[in-house]
Amino acid sequence: MNYLALDIGGTALKIAIVNENGKILISDKYPVNFDNYKTPIIDTVLKETDKFLADNKIESFKGVAVSATGQIDVNKGEVIGTGGNIKNYEGSKFKEKIEEKYKVKATVINDANAAALGELFLGNGKNSKNIVMITIGTGVGGGIVVNGEILNGRLGIGGELGHFSINNKGKKCTCGNTGCYEQYASMSALIKRVKEELDINDINGKEIFEQINHNEKMKEIVDRWIEDVACGVVSLVHIFNPDIVLIGGAVSEQKELFIDKLRKLVKERAMKNFAKDLKVEPAKLKNDAGIIGALYYLLKGENKDELQYGEI
Ligand SMILES: [Zn+2]
Repeated sequence: MNYLALDIGGTALKIAIVNENGKILISDKYPVNFDNYKTPIIDTVLKETDKFLADNKIESFKGVAVSATGQIDVNKGEVIGTGGNIKNYEGSKFKEKIEEKYKVKATVINDANAAALGELFLGNGKNSKNIVMITIGTGVGGGIVVNGEILNGRLGIGGELGHFSINNKGKKCTCGNTGCYEQYASMSALIKRVKEELDINDINGKEIFEQINHNEKMKEIVDRWIEDVACGVVSLVHIFNPDIVLIGGAVSEQKELFIDKLRKLVKERAMKNFAKDLKVEPAKLKNDAGIIGALYYLLKGENKDELQYGEI
C-alpha cells in the first residue's frame, strides 16, 4: 500500500501519493496564501487533501508523511514557531488532526530537515551517513544528518543553520540575535548588497549571476558573498565532520560561479583531516525533497531499518 505525503510551505501545499521506495505516483499543488492566511493553512491542508483524495479516487493509504515550514515539535507533530510571517499557523496540530481524520499514523518534520533526509534517501547524500545540508534562498535553512539520523534536538527544531552567528558585532537579525549566518549567506543578503553597492533598484539572484562575467564589480560582490557562505560552512564542517555538504536552493545550479568556488574555499580553510575526501555538492531533489524526506522520516518511524534505496 502507498503513502500520502504533504509538503506544506508558506506559499504552496504539495500533496502526493508515494510508494515506499519514494517514487511519487500522483501529485498536485495548491496555494495556501490566497487570502493572506486569513484561512488558516491547516484548514486549507485538510480541505485540499480531501479533494485530492476524492479527485484521484484514493480510498486508503498506509500513513501520512508531512513536511512543514516553521518550527515543528516532532514529538507532538505541531507547529510551535514561525521564522517568517505566516498568520494563523503557529499552534497547528497537524499530527493530531490528520490521525483523527484518516485513522493512520502521521509524522511531521520541518521542511529543511526533510530536505536533508530526502537527499540521504534518494539524492546526492545517498552514500553518506553524515550530511550537512544548507538551503540558500530568501533565508538560510538547514538540516544535519549524523550517523544516518536527522539531528532533531530536544523538540525537533535543531539544525537551524540560518541562525548561528558568524559575527557577534554584525548585522541585527530578525530573530533578535546579531550576525546570524542568514544575514550574510542568504540570497536576500546578496541581493541587498548588490542593490546598495551598485545602486540598483531591482535585481534578482538569477540576474546577478548572469551579469558576473561582464561586470567586475558584480563579480567582486558575489565573491565576497561566497566567502561569507564558506565561512559558515567551514565552521559546520569542523563541528560535524560530514562526508558531504549539500547546497540547496536555485543558486546551487550555478556550478562554476558558485559551487566550485565554494568547494575550493571550504577545502582551503577547513583543517586538513576535515577537508580530506570532503564533498561539497548541489542537492539533487529540488522541489520533491520535502515529500521524499517526509516519507523517509515516517518509514524510519515504522522501524524499517533496512530501507530499499530506489531511483526516482
Ligand atoms: Zn537570526
